[in-house]
Parts: sequence; C-alpha cells; structure tokens
Amino acid sequence: ASEAEEKDLVIIGGGVAGYVAAIKAGQAGMKVACIEKRGSLGGTCLNVGCIPSKSLLNNSHLYHQILHDTKNRGIEVGDVKLNLPAMMKAKDTSVAGLTKGIEFLFKKNNVEYIKGTGAFQDEHTVAVNLVEGGETTVRGKNILIATGSEATPFPGLTIDEKKVITSTGAIALQEVPKKMTVIGGGIIGLEMASVWSRLGSEVTVVEYLGQIGGPGMDKDVAKQAQKLLQKQGMKFKLNTKVTAGDAEGEGVKVSVEAAKGGKEETLDADVVLVAIGRRPYTNGLGLENIGLEVDERGRVIIDQEYRTKVPHIRAIGDVTFGPMLAHKAEEESVAVVEYIGKGYGHVNYGAIPSVMYTHPEVAWVGQNEEELKAANVKYNVGQFPFSANSRAKTNLDTEGFVKFISDAETDRILGIHIIGPSAGEMIAEGVLALEYGASSEDVARTSHAHPTLSEAFKEAAMATYDKAVHY
Ligand code: FAD
Ligand code: NAD
Repeated sequence: ASEAEEKDLVIIGGGVAGYVAAIKAGQAGMKVACIEKRGSLGGTCLNVGCIPSKSLLNNSHLYHQILHDTKNRGIEVGDVKLNLPAMMKAKDTSVAGLTKGIEFLFKKNNVEYIKGTGAFQDEHTVAVNLVEGGETTVRGKNILIATGSEATPFPGLTIDEKKVITSTGAIALQEVPKKMTVIGGGIIGLEMASVWSRLGSEVTVVEYLGQIGGPGMDKDVAKQAQKLLQKQGMKFKLNTKVTAGDAEGEGVKVSVEAAKGGKEETLDADVVLVAIGRRPYTNGLGLENIGLEVDERGRVIIDQEYRTKVPHIRAIGDVTFGPMLAHKAEEESVAVVEYIGKGYGHVNYGAIPSVMYTHPEVAWVGQNEEELKAANVKYNVGQFPFSANSRAKTNLDTEGFVKFISDAETDRILGIHIIGPSAGEMIAEGVLALEYGASSEDVARTSHAHPTLSEAFKEAAMATYDKAVHY
C-alpha cells in the first residue's frame, strides 16, 4: 500500500459485505483498497460458511440417497463407501476456486487488496498489521467497516474445533463422530446435523425454544421440518437448556434440563457442536480510537445510510443490524457504494429471503402467521402439498408444501413459506412477487411450465382466494 495516496474508499474486511462493495466501488471509478486478514477473500461465507457447508450438504445428501433411495427407482448399486477425505477435498476445491475468483475480480476492477489486520488510527487512517510481516497505513476519504461476525461461545465449553466445535470445525471433521450433540436448533445446527447424520453419526439436537429453525421460520414449516429430519434419524430435545458442559477426558458431556426447570440429564457424545448464534466481530478494530460505540449485542451503530456517528465511516453486513445472511450483506454493499458515490441507495429489508439447505429445503420470505397475528393483520392462507404436484411425484420426492399468506382485504402477498424440494430456488419467484407488490392472484394467473415443482407454488397462490385445481 502506498502511504501517501488517499483512497476514496478503504474497506476493512474482505467478506461478502466488503468484497462486493470493493468491486462496486472499483466499477464506479473510485480508488479503493480492501483490507482482509485471513489470507483469502470471501470471508466467513466463502471460506467457512455458505460455500463449504453447501458442498458437504450436497454430497452427503447424494451419499445418503444412494444408500437409501435407489432401489425403488430401478437402480441397483453395489458396494457404497464413504471416502471422507475425498469429500472434504471436493469442498476445498470449490472454496479455493471461488476465493481465487474474487482476487481475479479485484484485479479486473482495480481494487487494491491489502493482506493484513486493520485498526483505526484516526478517523481517516487505518493501520494495517500485514500478514507477511511489517506494518503500513492507508488513508481513506471514506471507510467501510465490514468485519463480519463470529460464533457465540457457550460458557463453560472451550472451543478446540476438534471435540468442542463451531461450524468451522463441523465442516472439517476428519472422521464421522459416532455420537454428536448439537447445542442450538437454528439453521447452522440443522444444516450441520444433517451432514453428519447422513454420514452416519447419531445426532441429538438440543434447542431452548419449543420449535426448531431459529428466528423467522413459520411454525407449520418448522413442525414439518422436525418430523422429516426425525425420520432421517436425527433426535431432538426441544424446550431444553444446556446447563453445563465437560470436555475433560474422553468425549464431551453436556448436562441438559427442561427450559422451565426439571430433571437434569447428561448427554454423552464424541463431538459437541455449539450453534447458538453468531455475534458481530470488532475485536482489535480500534473503534475506541475514534469514539465509535457498539450496542448491547456488539453491533456497530449506524443510521439509515449505514453511517456511524463519524459520517464518512460506515458499516454493513454481519457486524451491524439485520439478519446475518450473505445476500443481505451483498444488497447493502451495492447500496452503501451508491450512497457514497451518488448520495442515494436502497435495500428492501422486507424482501430478504431465508433458506435452510437441508433435505427437503426450507425457504421463506416476508412475514409468518405468528408475526401477522401479533400485528393484528387479517390474512388468508393458501397451501399446496408437493404430494399433489406431478413433478414431485415423478421425482419420488413429495415431502413438504408451499404456503402463501396474503392480505385478507387486498390479496397482496405478505409472506411465502416453503418446505420441499428446491425450495431455495423456488423462493426467488416469491421474492420477486413481493418486490413488485404482487397479489396472490397475480401469481396464480401467471403460467407456470408443466410439469415443474413451481406449479405447486402457483396452486398455493390460487388457494388463498379460490380452490387449487389439483388438491
Ligand atoms: P464475514 O463473512 O464474516 O467477513 C468479514 C471478514 O472481515 C472476515 O473475512 C474477517 O477475517 C475480516 N476481518 C475482521 N476483522 C478484520 C480486521 N480488523 N482487519 C481485516 N480484516 C478483518 N448466509 C447465507 O446467506 N447463506 C448461507 O447458506 C449461509 N451459510 C452459512 C453457513 C455457516 C456455517 C456460517 C457460519 C454462516 C453462513 N451464512 C450463510 C452467513 C454468512 O456467512 C454471513 O452472513 C456473511 O459471511 C456475512 O458477510 P460479512 O462480509 O458481513 O462478514
Ligand atoms: P440461529 O440464531 O439461527 O439459531 C440459534 C438457535 O440456538 C436458536 O434456535 C436458539 O433458540 C438456540 N439457542 C440459543 N441458546 C441456546 C442454548 N443455551 N441452549 C439451546 N439452544 C439455544 O443461529 P445459528 O444457527 O448459529 O446461525 C447463525 C447465523 O448464521 C444466523 O443468522 C443464520 O441466519 C446464519 N446462517 C445462515 C445459513 C443459511 O442461510 N442457510 C446457514 C448457516 C448460518
């Protein structure tokens, strides 16, 4: 980095929030530098999150299907064996290809990539402790904090990423644990529990609340998801809290009891996954040097235009408010660069989809029934099961349903909740409908190709104001 030159934008963090902003700023002709400490770009999502977890989810699903779901399809297979190192290598290859791809995009868009740890020296200067040794400073007219998040630790259990693991350890285990306890039945817990349960582990998920899936998942969908995951072999302990953990000696013990008080029980396992949420990461960033504060949950405080109280310093992604999702971070990256360059930008927080990549997948956008009830909104529900959809039937993959919720008076779509095959792809149509302020009838009167799973989507829309055809 050249110390003399002042950049238009200095970005701290090369995750989805930071790298997308860097590319967009480069495209807009700004002089931009992106500081990343982990030695590769893409942050949590590409290195230890979205991408490696989806590689393992995809390949473990294939393995599980070949073991349990081929005979009735007329496919006889011989000796099926798991080669875990090869499965991990496939994951690493996907990750390496994608992270290298961002380095290429940086070069293409004239982004200076500084490998090191950044800390505020003053309101315009970031000191960087370089990965390769030594220090430098970089000055920016604007500075963007995009330092992301880290796993919330569980008090009393020290993470070693071997026996007591976070998701980072869970995507890199070297053998299939005989028994695994998962603390937290949110998205990370259920995705990772799926991987290891399919590969042969006996998995028990302990969840504090009365339903799985974490915040936002519709109650009916969560119930169905639990039923289907149980059928695949996973065990659940809901309304249960973990009171203590002990990783001394062989294996790990965790003590659990009913959330409202009750008999204590000890769960033995080879590996314990801590998946109770993530928290914003600002360690060593030197926020105190420029008088910036975080809220009670560690989030960098910002206004509508992502500005901290030092207006040329902004923050986006996991380190600040909103759902901790890669595509949410990406929307904010585009908007923040527009705010800096043009003075305006926009993200519709009401239309950010959520997807859980289990089998079947779960996906939703907008509000769920509980939220609407709490807000006293009158609504209609239209539901359509995949068991009545021709493509799901031909694919022998009929579990789940599509649920539409629309305003009782105007029919405007308020929420869409799907559990079923390819729900994560299907929800894109729902997000678009919501963005366009569509009614259920708009969707139901739109031709959907036959035979496709998306016909279940159309029929659920129809069922909010009329009868579905095939159910
Ligand atoms: P991060 O990705 O955390 O990036 C921040 C970067 O900043 C890091 O690389 C860090 O090294 C760097 N950094 C921090 N401090 C400094 C510093 N002082 N100097 C220099 N660099 C610094 N989301 C989805 O939408 N879909 C999914 O399928 C999905 N799956 C996930 C699976 C797992 C196992 C996990 C853990 C998360 C998953 N997420 C998923 C969430 C997603 O990863 C995050 O929402 C996303 O990574 C947030 O991007 P970010 O850029 O804000 O933060
Ligand atoms: P989460 O907030 O989704 O779920 C955590 C779960 O743990 C909740 O259900 C909570 O009730 C439970 N819990 C908390 N404390 C507990 C305790 N002491 N005992 C038992 N249960 C407890 O968090 P997560 O699953 O860790 O995921 C973190 C973030 O990463 C989320 O924001 C998520 O959206 C994101 N993520 C997204 C994806 C995806 O989009 N597919 C995948 C992985 C992670």
